[in-house]
Amino acid sequence: MFVPKRILFEKNALNYKMGKDIYDFFKENKNVEIINLSTNRVKENIPGENLYDFYRESKKTLVVGVKKGMKFQSCKPSAHYQLPLISGCIGQCQYCYLNTNLGHRSYMKLNVNIDDILEQAQKYIDERLPEETIFEGSATSDPIPVEPYSNSLKYTIEFFSKKEKGKFRFVTKYTDIDTLLTIQHGGHTDIRFTLNTNKVIKDYESNTPSLNKRIEASNKVIKAEYPTGFIIAPVFLYDNWKKDYKNLLLDLNNSLPKNILHPLTFEVISHRYTTRAKNIILEAFPNTELPMNNEDRTYKYGQFGYGKFVYNKQDIEEIKYFFSNEIESIFHNKIIKYII
Ligand code: SF4
Repeated sequence: MFVPKRILFEKNALNYKMGKDIYDFFKENKNVEIINLSTNRVKENIPGENLYDFYRESKKTLVVGVKKGMKFQSCKPSAHYQLPLISGCIGQCQYCYLNTNLGHRSYMKLNVNIDDILEQAQKYIDERLPEETIFEGSATSDPIPVEPYSNSLKYTIEFFSKKEKGKFRFVTKYTDIDTLLTIQHGGHTDIRFTLNTNKVIKDYESNTPSLNKRIEASNKVIKAEYPTGFIIAPVFLYDNWKKDYKNLLLDLNNSLPKNILHPLTFEVISHRYTTRAKNIILEAFPNTELPMNNEDRTYKYGQFGYGKFVYNKQDIEEIKYFFSNEIESIFHNKIIKYII
């Protein structure tokens, strides 16, 4: 669970139940500074003269706010819309896409007007009938670490459990999922866990749970009969990578409960970076050892109009061959969605 060093309540946030609940949860905690903002100038209330310090202080900050504009961003190809419940993350994964995506807004921000957000989701569902509409809850966040006191996902999962044509999904590396295990979900929410080898977690994923803890949490979710999936990402090629990734898959399979209601899904994504991401990473993590030598990579234009440095063709082929063979042979009830 995320215990912030400071919580910034934006104007009006305490007029909502979720805002009040969060305030009550932390009000007696002497280690948590509570700041009521009279304006919504968040950045000025987070210390840090440069990106290095600001990044680290942001990661200890929770902003409790009210979402204003209700136009949802699209979320292709995995879903139709982003569901704007939460943005930011407490993790300090060096390669994280949020570093570029959110820029100076990498702090965790929770929107407390959840009824307005879900009302808008209902409008989008109605517009697309009779087609199904899928909403992604983690497009710009890892929403789990604030769940024990926000209940934002719990509320949302219960909302979608009653929707015949509305589905919800999110992905996490975190383990604070216990409040989600006994609620009605109707099989309408997919929960996916991002896994990586112990070496990658140790080298690049500060402030995230260990592989074993993530697997343990995924097992609870599987037992609670949620459709469950795994994202193995980012895959790095290093000495013994095959041995480590194979062990990861074996450990996962050995941990699984006997009867699994839904097939497990697998998505495998090799490491890639943009020039902009690389520049930000070098500022926030000056001593990073992330493999980002452009000469070792192939430059590839993506669907969003900007290029990325990906592993070269031969390496990608090897990754595809390795993971498809191993996942096929190790797991019984599974679907490999893609390996890229
Ligand atoms: Fe980014 Fe995910 Fe790591 Fe959070 S856990 S810092 S969202 S990669």
